[in-house]
Amino acid sequence: MLKFPAAPVVSRMAPTPSGFLHLGNAVNFTLTWLLTRRAHGILHLRIDDLDRARFRPTYLENIFRTLDWLGLDYDHGPTGPEDFEHSFSQQYRLPEYEAVLQAAHAAHPELFYACHCSRTELARQVLPAGRYAGTCRPAGLPFAAADTAWRAAVPAGANAAFSDLAQGDMRIWVAQDPGDFVVRKKDGVAAYQVASVVDDVRLGVNLIVRGLDLLTSTAAQIWLAPYLSEQGGFTQTRFLHHDLLRDEDGHKLSKSTQAGTQRGILEEAATPQVVYQAVARLLGLPLAAGESLEGLQNVIAGGI
Ligand SMILES: [Zn+2]
Repeated sequence: MLKFPAAPVVSRMAPTPSGFLHLGNAVNFTLTWLLTRRAHGILHLRIDDLDRARFRPTYLENIFRTLDWLGLDYDHGPTGPEDFEHSFSQQYRLPEYEAVLQAAHAAHPELFYACHCSRTELARQVLPAGRYAGTCRPAGLPFAAADTAWRAAVPAGANAAFSDLAQGDMRIWVAQDPGDFVVRKKDGVAAYQVASVVDDVRLGVNLIVRGLDLLTSTAAQIWLAPYLSEQGGFTQTRFLHHDLLRDEDGHKLSKSTQAGTQRGILEEAATPQVVYQAVARLLGLPLAAGESLEGLQNVIAGGI
C-alpha cells in the first residue's frame, strides 16, 4: 500500500510526444494529479521532446487532448502545442544540459568515458538487462570526436538507496542495472537521464511518480545527480514507483512494445472511466471509487 506524500508537494506530468498516450500514461498522470492535489501541491506539465527524431505534431496535440479528456489540470506549463513549441521545448535547454555535462566532465575527469560503438556492435555485446559491456571504457577515446557518445563510468558497488512511497526501502546496484549508461548521445545532445534531472531540479520538483519500468532510470539519476553541478538537491526528491498495468495477455503496456497501429487511449476508450478504474485497481480501491475523478479524489482524501 502506498504512503501519501506529505506537503509541500511539487510534482510533474512528463509525457513524451513520440507516440499516442496509452492507458499506462493516463494512469500515471491521473495518479500524479491525485497525489499532488491531495497535498494541495503544485503540478507542472513538463513535456519531454529531447528526441526530436520521434517527435510528431499529432503526438504533441494528443497530450493536451488527453489531459483535457481526463479532466487533469496543472499549475505551470504550456497551454497548448503552440505555446509549447514557442516557449517550453527542451530544444531551448540544450545549451544548459551541455554546460552541466561539460562542468561535470571538467570537475570529475574519470566520471565519463567516450564510446564509439556502433548500433551493430552494441547489439552484439549486450549483457543481461541491456547492460553495456564497457568495451570502450579502458580505451581512453577522445571525447570531442565525431560520432562518439559519452557514458558514465559506474564503479562496481555503486548503488542508489531511497525510500519509495509505494515499494518501501529500495537499494539498486547501478553498476548491474543500468550499468554504464549514456549521458550524452552521439549527436552531442544530453541523454534523457541528464535532461530529466536538470529539468526536475529547475522546476523544484520534489515528488516523482513513475512506473516500475523506470526504476533503473531513477537509480542512475540518483547516483549521477551529486556529480552534476547544482543538481545535488535531486537526491532529496521523493519517489513513488507504481506497478505496471498489463494487457489481457499479461504483457506490460509500454509505448515501445506497441504496434504501429496503436491509436492511444483517447481513441480506444469511450470514456475516461476506463482510466479511473485502472487507477482504483492499482490503489486497491473498490471499483466504485473509479466511477469518476471526483470519486477517486473523495476516497483518497481520507487516506486508504
Ligand atoms: Zn563503446
